[in-house]
Amino acid sequence: MSYKFVYLFSEGNGNMRELLGGKGANLAEMTNLGMPVPQGFTVTTEACTQYYKDGQEINDDIKAQIFDHMKKMEEISGKKFGDPENPLLVSVRSGARASMPGMMDTILNLGLNDEVVEGFAKKTGNPRFAYDSYRRFIQMYSDVVMEVGKKYFEELIDEMKEKKGVTLDTELDADDLKELANQFKAEYKAKLGVDFPTDPAEQLMGAVKAVFRSWDNPRAIYYRRMNDIPSDWGTAVNVQMMVFGNMGDTSGTGVAFSRNPSTGEKGLYGEYLMNAQGEDVVAGVRTPQPISHLKETNPAVYEQFCNIVDTLEKHYRDMQDMEFTIEEGKLFMLQTRNGKRTPAAALQIACDLVDEGMRTPEEAVAMIEPRSLDALLHPTFDTKALKAATPVGSALPASPGAACGKVVFTADDATEWTTQKGEKVILVRLETSPEDIEGMNYAQGILTVRGGMTSHAAVVARGMGRCCVSGCGDIKINEEEKVFTLGGKTFHEGDYISLDGSTGNIYGEAIPTVEASISGNFDRIMKWADEFRTLNIRTNADTPRDAKQARSFGAEGIGLCRTEHMFFDSDRIKAMREMIVSDTVEQREAALAKLLPMQQGDFEALYEAMEGCPVTIRFLDPPLHEFVPTEEDDIAELAKEMGKTVADIKAIISGLHEFNPMMGHRGCRLAVTYPEIAAMQTKAVIQAALAVNARHADWNIVPEIMIPLVGEVKELAYVKSVVTKTADEVIAAAGAELTYKVGTMIEIPRAALTADEIAKEAEFFSFGTNDLTQMTFGFSRDDAGKFLGAYYDKKIYESDPFAKLDQVGVGKLVKMAAELGRATRPDIKLGICGEHGGDPSTIEFCHKVGLNYVSCSPFRVPIARLAAAQAALNNK
Ligand code: ADP
Ligand code: MG
Ligand code: MG
Repeated sequence: MSYKFVYLFSEGNGNMRELLGGKGANLAEMTNLGMPVPQGFTVTTEACTQYYKDGQEINDDIKAQIFDHMKKMEEISGKKFGDPENPLLVSVRSGARASMPGMMDTILNLGLNDEVVEGFAKKTGNPRFAYDSYRRFIQMYSDVVMEVGKKYFEELIDEMKEKKGVTLDTELDADDLKELANQFKAEYKAKLGVDFPTDPAEQLMGAVKAVFRSWDNPRAIYYRRMNDIPSDWGTAVNVQMMVFGNMGDTSGTGVAFSRNPSTGEKGLYGEYLMNAQGEDVVAGVRTPQPISHLKETNPAVYEQFCNIVDTLEKHYRDMQDMEFTIEEGKLFMLQTRNGKRTPAAALQIACDLVDEGMRTPEEAVAMIEPRSLDALLHPTFDTKALKAATPVGSALPASPGAACGKVVFTADDATEWTTQKGEKVILVRLETSPEDIEGMNYAQGILTVRGGMTSHAAVVARGMGRCCVSGCGDIKINEEEKVFTLGGKTFHEGDYISLDGSTGNIYGEAIPTVEASISGNFDRIMKWADEFRTLNIRTNADTPRDAKQARSFGAEGIGLCRTEHMFFDSDRIKAMREMIVSDTVEQREAALAKLLPMQQGDFEALYEAMEGCPVTIRFLDPPLHEFVPTEEDDIAELAKEMGKTVADIKAIISGLHEFNPMMGHRGCRLAVTYPEIAAMQTKAVIQAALAVNARHADWNIVPEIMIPLVGEVKELAYVKSVVTKTADEVIAAAGAELTYKVGTMIEIPRAALTADEIAKEAEFFSFGTNDLTQMTFGFSRDDAGKFLGAYYDKKIYESDPFAKLDQVGVGKLVKMAAELGRATRPDIKLGICGEHGGDPSTIEFCHKVGLNYVSCSPFRVPIARLAAAQAALNNK
């Protein structure tokens, strides 16, 4: 027997999602639970991988297994594929392991042709329905399989409606739809130069292939990259008997959630549409009914559905997102999955499931996607400003949050304005489509004219944690002219608007926003996470404001304070420049003496903000030319101050020019050439700690001085000798006691390679993975954007190594350095302070390598707390 590539729903189960995809596994599971599921089979994800191995061909073995299973479906259904007398029609549906909404395309009513449709009309006694199904099939097949744009068919429908003087597609009769089917086939031939395929077997293989192919469309690739889904997983294909929601007024189709996906509130939530099929509900063609309405119109089906929902939720122990169809009063389940939800809803649901006894706190912590917390950490509207503002309109609160930005009308503009111009934008669209996904991600918020709570815009925005207000029918929009009107006001591209995704209100002005805080469910989950994690979480902060923010989000110290950021204020930069252009040690010391009190004040404020927690201060790191003046006025002023000529100053500035500044005169090399800089910074650190400890009897700040860019133990030993000499003198002069630590960044490959040596001097290591990545890969973060796109396209890299740590290469250095460091100094403290410190997969790596802490930007602290807990739970 050959290898099995195809499974009947009755052969699978819910645990087989790797092989059958999420949709297939859950269809099998619902079948096993005895629920009314139209039967069918799943072509496995392995068949998809095989298809790509075979050069995008479906081999004979897989083909034979597919048709063998079609035979089985014919037996189950008592119908025959392609038989005009009693035709079996199927849907072809994609389904990857992880759900990828809107990424893959579905084809319905497959198996129809001119002959079969006539038989089908006779058999059902409902020609309108038969031709409606046929025209839908041609439309979907053309779009999905042959990539003839949907819009050509929609235009034909609109023309037909206009001709008949009707507004709804349900008002078109059998003859109209038959005529439309003919027009569609003609359009197909005009666009592709061949006839629409009449052979159902050919249609089936075309559709299966299209699903496999869609795994690699640009939207899918982008979605995978955003969500860390590997490209070699592949998608499964489900071939399923059709049931028909478009048979008339006792038929319909809908979607429902077992809890509110926006708020998490318990209770059935959803929409349905009678006499409709497939995407009609979510496409906003007609306005759907709330699910509660079904209770009045069809109480028996409603009750049956409620029972199924209850069973499914208890079975999966999670909120379910379900798709169903009613065919002439009979209910069928077409899909269930753990529902996508807003970050706030995710917290509510996780807490409720614990309270309802369905989940343990460990499981609740594991249920929350760490990165989704990001949306809860972003600003909400300033309450006062919000009260003072009057909405110009309102629509559906599709995805919560507050957004304020400039209006743009295309997804490309949203991307461009944000990435090129650094603008905050709101994307305003008639409706969104999967092509818009990148622009939606960049926008602060999304406003659509059409579409309900389950429209594409709403679903995608909630997944991204992006604010969205949808279905604002009051808007008159002209997308080409880039203008819309609402509430008697006209808005052009670039005008400010604000959206409240929690109320659905739209404001024709900019409304200031306020920072978020952690409370309620969020706090509860965070406290559980803190119980389970072993990693400490610190923050990268250079200002008291950032430090306070991070502290309020639960940071347990500062892992990286970049002191150079403190020198850019207008009053400080002058002293800094004087220091740089000094000729003698005395001149330099005089300039540094001006900086000392300011620097000491900075550190005191940071220590105060961190309430006694450890603070790691990194000494001056960037090349000096970053500080020198470029404006003539500034140069002249500096010349005057220093008693030099403008030409002298210019000569000094040009002398600072470097061919490769990132690898030039920076980091500890500055302290080696100008030890007085390190001495001044040491004084500031130590005096600040003494002062703050004196103010707070119960605090015992142990300052941590971090020397950057070390590659050789002797350079660290030299700088350390300057630090300890200065520090010890200051402490002795104060007649006080103070412990302090001197450590280093590990950010040059040579430091990692010789970490055993370096640990002889360093009391702690902090992995500076930004530079370490840059120097290990040999390309810079600032220039990688120019070619990384090509690397993603060619699948050389799947993610940005500056965002997600390269565990294979850079990670190997980290692991090795950690081991070497510990071998020399068993109690050495190890942390990470690159951008990667806030990335969940990197955090798991840090946990496994046994680092003591991760340090990340303030807004990532809660994400890191949760990710660290999940890492601990996963690696128990
Ligand atoms: P998506 O993954 O985009 O949700 P689906 O494969 O779930 O795509 O298909 C979309 C919709 O098509 C379903 O929600 C359902 O309404 C309809 N559909 C799919 N298969 C069938 C079927 N066998 N019978 C009736 N409707 C179907
Ligand atoms: Mg679906
Ligand atoms: Mg660095």
